[in-house]
Amino acid sequence: MTSKTAPRVAIIGGGFSGIAAAQRLMKYGIEDFILFEQSDALGGTWLDNSYPGAEVDTPSHIYSFSFNRNDWTRTHCARDELLAYLQRTGDALNLGPRLRLRTGVRSAAWDAATHQWTLTLGSGETAVFDAVITAVGFLNVPNYPKWAEGTGFGGAIIHSARWPKGYDLTGKRVGVVGTGSTAVQIVTEAAKVAIHLTVFQREPNWVLRKGNRPYTPAERQRYRSWLGHKLLRLKHFIDYERERAGGRNQMAGTPANTKLREGALAYMRRELAGRAELIPMVTPDYPVWGKRPVYCDTYYSSIAQDNVTVAPQVVELTPDRVIDQSGTQHELDVLVLATGFKATDYLYTLSVRGTGGRELHDVWAGEPEALSGVAVPGFPNFFMMYGPNTNSGPLVYLLESHADFAARCIRDMARSGSDTVEADPAVTQRFNAWIQARLQKTVWATSNNYFRNASGKVVTQWPFTALTYRLSSKFWRKRGMKYSKNEAAS
Ligand code: NAP
Repeated sequence: MTSKTAPRVAIIGGGFSGIAAAQRLMKYGIEDFILFEQSDALGGTWLDNSYPGAEVDTPSHIYSFSFNRNDWTRTHCARDELLAYLQRTGDALNLGPRLRLRTGVRSAAWDAATHQWTLTLGSGETAVFDAVITAVGFLNVPNYPKWAEGTGFGGAIIHSARWPKGYDLTGKRVGVVGTGSTAVQIVTEAAKVAIHLTVFQREPNWVLRKGNRPYTPAERQRYRSWLGHKLLRLKHFIDYERERAGGRNQMAGTPANTKLREGALAYMRRELAGRAELIPMVTPDYPVWGKRPVYCDTYYSSIAQDNVTVAPQVVELTPDRVIDQSGTQHELDVLVLATGFKATDYLYTLSVRGTGGRELHDVWAGEPEALSGVAVPGFPNFFMMYGPNTNSGPLVYLLESHADFAARCIRDMARSGSDTVEADPAVTQRFNAWIQARLQKTVWATSNNYFRNASGKVVTQWPFTALTYRLSSKFWRKRGMKYSKNEAAS
């Protein structure tokens, strides 16, 4: 392969990340790309998550692309509005001709002779590209509890991210397993329509007020304008940055963390004043931010309803009963598993072979890491969106930053007449030592959460502000990404 004057790029995944990657490639003049999406439409997590009550818990105006302004109807919009926005964004970018829907990618293999990647698709067909950007999501492979496997349970068992189209909870005896961000949204809807709802809690979450409401017509008019939209985004951005600056919110025992705890406790006591007996059970014994906090205005008022019970975690299913840790048996028509995702198993469904045929998961050996979460030594021309240690807020700003890293590398490779760009191992190691030093001081490192891998290392979180990510990733990219040319193939 000669130098890649017009590199051909594969994007794998068509959610927020894949769309951001496509936009950035086009911004830098890289027009020759294909976006593979296994579903039948764009949307990613917002296509998958159709459970009742699904809505964003980040303000709509900052949970959207910088390059596609939208007239949001609510402070925190519902799933259908977001999904429509993502699909409209795909249309606005004219992604249609570059989309391969209903096309999963099974594996990617680097060819050291041609300096190209061969993708094997779900059908067995292969396709060759100069560079690959994975945008397969971070919270997308459902986590199924062991006790739910092969039990012969007579009721329905539904994972929140696999909601059967049209499945209605009305008039049913419903169980919801989990108390995370997804569970509280389902609990809110189920409490309205179920004969009885049982919430099975393993460990309670800190619940913070979300402040969700429809925008007034005057607000919508203001935020439709270029300036009004920019100013609101800036306000939300500053709120996020203040929450993360210095890291004190995420460190146990700091005045900032204590203040968060006091605020959350006061909110809980107010909401559960009529059901005070629930308070000890739903009060976490770890600091706020030990798990990702839950933002919800309706969870406490829902569990305070007469038709709702909070029970300890499930230990066993029999054909006609759900048995919780206290030994209580529950007769249910449906058990909803809001049990989250295999968050630390990056690229779980994809096999990636880099130089020397080494498989990425073998290289990681359970400890996923990358330069700025995007590039891995030994895997040239390969980039990850939302990779290891990049999870934080505001999320879409961060996703656009990952896309920028990848697209600039591909552009610079082409401009410099090179045909490979790859992360330097020593620089990658320095980057990860830097973030891990900070991560070890956070409450994430000492609580039960989906941020830590089997050995307890925090492998999902970005520990500084979003602006620090964007600025530092430019530094690490310039310092750590090495360009070269395959002379033998020229
Ligand atoms: P999650 O935060 O991982 O929560 C999973 C819940 O299931 C936890 O309560 C967990 O208990 C419980 N659980 C897991 N395995 C279990 C088992 N084997 N037995 C019993 N209980 C079990 O998952 P999620 O609620 O789906 O949320 C994941 C992330 O998605 C959120 O943190 C957020 O970032 C994102 N999200 C965002 C929105 C949005 O509005 N934008 C909405 C939903 C989700 P433990 O706490 O004890 O582990």
